[in-house]
Amino acid sequence: MNSEVLKGKKILIVEDDMSSRLYLNKILEKTGALLFNANDGREAIEIVSGEPGINVILMDIQLPVMDGYTSAKKIRELGLDIKIIAQTAYSLSGDMENILSSGFDDYILKPIYSGQLIEKLTSFLK
Ligand SMILES: [Mg+2]
Repeated sequence: MNSEVLKGKKILIVEDDMSSRLYLNKILEKTGALLFNANDGREAIEIVSGEPGINVILMDIQLPVMDGYTSAKKIRELGLDIKIIAQTAYSLSGDMENILSSGFDDYILKPIYSGQLIEKLTSFLK
């Protein structure tokens, strides 16, 4: 698995479920990416505002304080060159439309598998 591409890239994980967050960190730690974590949408916005050069955000949709849709829209308004990938358990077409119209670049369905995640991130960041 070629994860060289992810080395040194800044990845923000936005996830309110602690075990899911630990799982994503565990997968991505091996790639040499620099990982940032937020528990909700507001924290995510604080991090992208304060930390220059975040390359990609893995954003959960159902979040406390501010949900993934609203957060993605607000981050888009900041005008940053940043990829935003939704992580969602829903495969309903309405949800997908909502995701793509909220400013996300793509989505990944839960449960998330390590190979699939790394492949997707690599294709966005290479
Ligand atoms: Mg959630």
